[in-house]
Amino acid sequence: MSEEKVCSCCKKLLPVVRFSRDAQKADGLRPNCRDCRSTQRALAYRENPEPQKERSLAHYYHNRESILQRVLSYQASHPAIARATSRRMREKYPEKVTARSILNREILSGRIKKQPCSVCGADRVEAHHPDYAQPLRVQWLCPAHHKELHRRERVNRESSNRTTTLPRRLPKGV
Ligand SMILES: [Zn+2]
Ligand SMILES: [Zn+2]
Ligand SMILES: [Zn+2]
Repeated sequence: MSEEKVCSCCKKLLPVVRFSRDAQKADGLRPNCRDCRSTQRALAYRENPEPQKERSLAHYYHNRESILQRVLSYQASHPAIARATSRRMREKYPEKVTARSILNREILSGRIKKQPCSVCGADRVEAHHPDYAQPLRVQWLCPAHHKELHRRERVNRESSNRTTTLPRRLPKGV
């Protein structure tokens, strides 16, 4: 295999590491170099930002099931990497991982239902555990208010050891 390749776009002779892989091509590389590709993407984005925005955010939320499937199948075909990652997580945040998996099981089984954000009522929520020792005691927050809560907790921890919670509505049914 040659170590250099001419970019079809800028016509420069470049080391092959400057090209992304493309299994469809005879040499297994994209015809244009990474620099040219990112320039093209930036130009395309300036002309028509919507598709790319869609790819990042909306794409994720609409396709989170298939993305999750991809992650799971990656983990299935790379068990060593997946095991190392989850071991790192368990070592670093043991209570968090346990609390999450207990909660996820309850959600999957339908015994616990997600609630709207307890601050703003948004539908898209994340579970916040005020105490990982109580895995089923969660506060439902939208990503923005969840981040906000953690930011406040961090600020509080820096000034005192007191923890804060955001004003909350009473959880329904949990
Ligand atoms: Zn190029
Ligand atoms: Zn919110
Ligand atoms: Zn949280």
